[in-house]
Amino acid sequence: MNMTFGMRDENRALLDRVKTMIRDDIMPLADEYAEEIAKGDRWQFTERQTEILEGLKSKAKEQGLWNFWLTDSAAGFGLTTVEYAYFAEEMGKTPLGAEVFNCSAPDTGNMEVLERYGSARMKETWLKPLLDGQIRSAYLMTEPAVASSDATNISMSCVRDGDDYVLNGEKWWSSGAGDPRCKVYITMVKTGSDDMPKHQQHSMIVVPAGTPGIEILRAMEVYGHDDAPHGHMHIRFTDVRVPAENLILGEGRGFEISQGRLGPGRIHHCMRAIGQAEAALEQMCRRALNREAFGKKLAQLGANYDIMAECRMEIEMARLLCLKAAWYMDQGDARAAAPWISQIKVVAPRTALKVIDEAVQMFGGQGVSQDTKLAQTWTHVRTLRLADGPDAVHRRQIARAELKKYTQEKM
Ligand SMILES: Cc1cc2nc3c(=O)[nH]c(=O)nc-3n(C[C@H](O)[C@H](O)[C@H](O)COP(=O)(O)OP(=O)(O)OC[C@H]3O[C@@H](n4cnc5c(N)ncnc54)[C@H](O)[C@@H]3O)c2cc1C
Repeated sequence: MNMTFGMRDENRALLDRVKTMIRDDIMPLADEYAEEIAKGDRWQFTERQTEILEGLKSKAKEQGLWNFWLTDSAAGFGLTTVEYAYFAEEMGKTPLGAEVFNCSAPDTGNMEVLERYGSARMKETWLKPLLDGQIRSAYLMTEPAVASSDATNISMSCVRDGDDYVLNGEKWWSSGAGDPRCKVYITMVKTGSDDMPKHQQHSMIVVPAGTPGIEILRAMEVYGHDDAPHGHMHIRFTDVRVPAENLILGEGRGFEISQGRLGPGRIHHCMRAIGQAEAALEQMCRRALNREAFGKKLAQLGANYDIMAECRMEIEMARLLCLKAAWYMDQGDARAAAPWISQIKVVAPRTALKVIDEAVQMFGGQGVSQDTKLAQTWTHVRTLRLADGPDAVHRRQIARAELKKYTQEKM
């Protein structure tokens, strides 16, 4: 029996259908899909790659298994964040999982922004094709020249000129901007002057990919991997003109929007990381039972029982914390949820990294090779200790929330 507390009965059946599709349709094609990426120009899709991906997406869509992440919207299933956690965990178990159900980063966060804060025109032009899975998007905040974990440092200039804004500056680590299907960037820019309140100097603007003046300089590598065709791109903007109506909500509202965006996005990453940890523990156990050394199964050697038990306990603790953070999000008070999201944002990648590393060890040399997905998964999860806020920044938030309890005490 699987624990699914917080899940309504009707959604249990839906989760089972997602699990079945992942097991029967997606996982069997994962290796072939990865091999296709390696062929020819890795930044373009081969015919077969498109066939696999679009075939799976159509199948998911036909079955109504689509856009689960839209938790509180009429367009989605109306899942709670707690319920969505169980779905995201399953999708995290295979690299294609999230995209097949149109639930992948950074699109979900960007769609959330457009849905909550976008104008009718933005919704028609960008949200609709994103919800349909026809295009993809990127979120451009981080900049090479400034410490971007403090987003008040963001410095890309955005100056009003007639009916346009003109953007200048550089962004990097723009995940997904390498994908030829990426048609739009949600971009954090500086519209205000230094003498304005710190959190009112920035804005978010919708920039169509391919606008004149945009140059993709290079793909940033993660431990030597460029993550093609998704990519984490380094992009230069030189006098990029964007219609003024592309500014979301108005000047100075960037932080308000980014808070709305990053909460759900962060927790989705954590949910998938727990799925990745589960998948690694399963591989570790199967390997430990199927291989022998010194006359015994690997499971029976050395401290391997303890290692597997520790991994199981840590995953369970991380999952419960994730569900607690999700529950806080469902209460509708983003401020109260924030320290819980920060806690899981530190704990989930740390747990997943530990479990994946132990699985690598159980596989011996094969564990670090291309013959399992473990090495690739480890490098991906390692980046989560930086992306969407480095650990230290989240620990700072957790400690501040903790101390506030006592500094606000009446003496
Ligand atoms: C694979 C990957 C994908 C990414 N995708 C995106 C994306 O799609 N869009 C996007 O905009 N960005 C993206 N990022 C960027 C990511 O969000 C930033 O790297 C992150 O916010 C940190 O900013 P920085 O790199 O400028 O580090 P810095 O701000 O320079 O921080 C460096 C280090 O300083 C230390 N530090 C910072 N603040 C504190 C503190 N308060 N206390 C103690 N120590 C501190 C931490 O150790 C931190 O890691 C991605 C990054 C990676 C690696």
